[in-house]
Amino acid sequence: VIILAIESSCDDTSAAIIKNKTILSNIVAGQSVHEQYGGVVPELASRAHQQNIVPVVDTALKKAGISPDEINAIAFTRGPGLLGSLLVGTSFAKSMALGLQIPLVEVNHMHGHVLAHFIEDGTPSPAFPFLCLTVSGGHTQIVHVTSPTEMKIIGETIDDAAGEAFDKTAKILNLPYPGGPLIDKYAQMGNPKAFTFSKPRIDGYNFSFSGLKTSILYTIQKLEKEHPNIRKEALYDICASVQHTIVEILFDKLTKAATELGIKEVAIAGGVSANSLLRSELERIGKTKGWNTYIPRFEYCTDNAAMIGIAGYYEYLQGRFADQSVAPLARLAF
Ligand code: ATP
Ligand code: FE
Repeated sequence: VIILAIESSCDDTSAAIIKNKTILSNIVAGQSVHEQYGGVVPELASRAHQQNIVPVVDTALKKAGISPDEINAIAFTRGPGLLGSLLVGTSFAKSMALGLQIPLVEVNHMHGHVLAHFIEDGTPSPAFPFLCLTVSGGHTQIVHVTSPTEMKIIGETIDDAAGEAFDKTAKILNLPYPGGPLIDKYAQMGNPKAFTFSKPRIDGYNFSFSGLKTSILYTIQKLEKEHPNIRKEALYDICASVQHTIVEILFDKLTKAATELGIKEVAIAGGVSANSLLRSELERIGKTKGWNTYIPRFEYCTDNAAMIGIAGYYEYLQGRFADQSVAPLARLAF
């Protein structure tokens, strides 16, 4: 089965060609226009998707060496995400499927992040059932996965996402958007115990990150009274301490869930799973708990169409197709 997959939920326009579970091409066009605004500007994102979608799909086909008439189905991200962004990918997928007279498959973006683990790229895939900590720019979820098409959220953030915590901290530190990768880089040169920030007290498997942002801001503002340049002088230590705290909050709940449910297959996914401390901590904690741990390859952590392709492949096998009346949903249910 050859599937063309399209992802346009946020600020990356991506197209992939997937043959069964193998990726033949995975093209991602990022959007630098947002950097100067310190966050994604929805109106600019949808315009950039419109400019990028045709060349990105064209490049994906060429790189895979596949002609349009060889494609069996088109998978696209229906949601969740920015409506204007989703509209571009959805409309493109619908018209191309109509033109080629092939089935259309809708994919939930968050299922895509989880299913990135099943791309055949030489890395092992988790066995069922497993837990997946999906940490991205807009979501923080602990997902209990029983099959490629059956999964449920057992814990999630009640306010900000983990990625947002990174990005908002970056903003406080005057670092460009998205701040996660830079905080990761600077943290490697800092002391993770230099500052302590208050951690949320939330029951069950849910998360909260909005209090952390406030705690970081107040801590810095207080120190600034005596050290006006603290944001610059202690940049590496602040980054290391923030990253350490975020990762600790995430593992408190992931470990609790794995222990209470008796699950030893544990995975991470989403943009924040590119974080070096999160990755090394998963391995370290996993060893002490006897878990088998799984981390997607770097290029399948942040938004990409390959993960939409693998999710679409499983939907295709189930014979679950969308029709031409399908519309994107910004808050598509999990
Ligand atoms: P969602 O999937 O919830 O709709 P999204 O698609 O915008 O959100 P992703 O592309 O999956 O999110 O992830 C982007 C987020 O990952 C950003 O918040 C970014 O700062 C964060 N991120 C990327 N690399 C790293 C890193 N090395 N360390 C920490 N955070 C990172
Ligand atoms: Fe995402």
